[in-house]
Amino acid sequence: MADKYMELVNTGLTKKLATMLGLPRPPRLRRYSPDAALLPGPVLILGASAKAQDLSDTLVSWGLDVRRHDAGDAKLGALVLLLDELERPTDLSPLMLAAGQAVRKLLPGARVVAISRETTDEDAPALAAVRQGIDGAVRSLGREMRGGATANGIVLAEGTHVASPSALAAVRFFFSGRSAYVDGQFLNVRTNDGVLPADFAKPLAGKVAVVTGAARGIGAAIAKTLSRDGAQVVVVDMPQAGEALAKVANSIGATTLQLDVTAPDAGQQIMDHAIGRHGSLDLVVHNAGITRDKLLANMDAGRWDSVIAVNIASQLRMNEAFLAAKLPGLRIVSLASTSGIAGNRGQTNYAASKGGVIGMVHSSAKLFAEIGGSITAVAPGFIETEMTAKIPLGTRTVARMVLPSLMQGGLPVDVAEAISFLGSDAAAGLNGQVLRVCGQSLVGA
Ligand code: NAD
Repeated sequence: MADKYMELVNTGLTKKLATMLGLPRPPRLRRYSPDAALLPGPVLILGASAKAQDLSDTLVSWGLDVRRHDAGDAKLGALVLLLDELERPTDLSPLMLAAGQAVRKLLPGARVVAISRETTDEDAPALAAVRQGIDGAVRSLGREMRGGATANGIVLAEGTHVASPSALAAVRFFFSGRSAYVDGQFLNVRTNDGVLPADFAKPLAGKVAVVTGAARGIGAAIAKTLSRDGAQVVVVDMPQAGEALAKVANSIGATTLQLDVTAPDAGQQIMDHAIGRHGSLDLVVHNAGITRDKLLANMDAGRWDSVIAVNIASQLRMNEAFLAAKLPGLRIVSLASTSGIAGNRGQTNYAASKGGVIGMVHSSAKLFAEIGGSITAVAPGFIETEMTAKIPLGTRTVARMVLPSLMQGGLPVDVAEAISFLGSDAAAGLNGQVLRVCGQSLVGA
């Protein structure tokens, strides 16, 4: 339905009609394909930063056409704004106004990436003001993008720089079609850890990855994406979903583990399977999740408890088992939700579980760092799956259309791309992050 609408408003006569009638015309998003160019055109870098030359050299080594300060008449595939050396809000003016001129030249599917510094309580007020101001400006610019272009930011912690591995990996993620549905978001580079892959098409080569809830929907897309990116995958789901699970496994050479993640020994079973069959466990994606929506006034214990049990309690228990086993370098990526950030009517139980995931990620980052690993989460907004197909049609249509510049729900693969990136060694410096994949929406499951 959403696809058909997009097809109609973007082709031929019906496109003209839609324009005349002022109907929303959701753009086609530039999604990742291993054969596609990293960007649709040259990159313009505006501003100054300590390691700007290293950044520029790296972009050139990626085959990009890099322009500094002025791109002449060229249409642009990306715009990088180096804002990390600004000291007070009045410093923003020349760069942001130059960015405004450059934005006019962006091609469909282009990317704006702003690079700034983390605000801390120790900052002088003017410094904190400019740094936090960048956050508001970039989120707003994201809402002004057209043609499937997006604007996102990278926030550097003290002691990190634009050429640190995770900053470069984040730039590449934002440039590529992997971030098609990530808009108005920030990735915080906390450390200089991380190793860029030898082959950017196979960032998970040699890794063993487990995906829970992989029989359908987002989980199935995650399993396929991790496999495409080089991982040996183990797919996990309830015994009832065995047939669908086997189909997913067969399509990617994965092995299957039929398991209810709420089982007390789920963590041990996962380790036994992954290490026993494949020799290691490098990445676990906690994707299995359920909704049991009701207004709190009508909520019963069954609905409340099952959502907490599957969506968060099981993850805490499994993580404890993984940490106790000290699996070297283990990375965890969990599924949060925009409901856990902004709340959603009828979802007190679900939002408690997904807010719980965010709390768990923040507090567990140091524990996983101790074993050389990391824990992160992705918070999807409205993603077209069987879970969201249960939402009444009217609410669903509104949820798709209110997304400011992208005007459409995301696809499971959009979530999967972010997970594959966060679960890779290149993203080690992003430990503790929660990245929204929401097309700038606050409506979500
Ligand atoms: P889905 O219902 O289509 O698939 C969920 C899968 O998890 C199913 O295959 C199910 O059998 C499995 N599962 C459920 N309970 C399990 C258990 N106890 N043990 C093992 N497997 C179990 O859901 P989806 O839309 O693909 O969502 C996947 C994840 O993404 C969930 O965590 C969900 O909360 C989250 N999410 C989805 C959206 C969205 O818009 N679809 C938005 C935000 C977050």
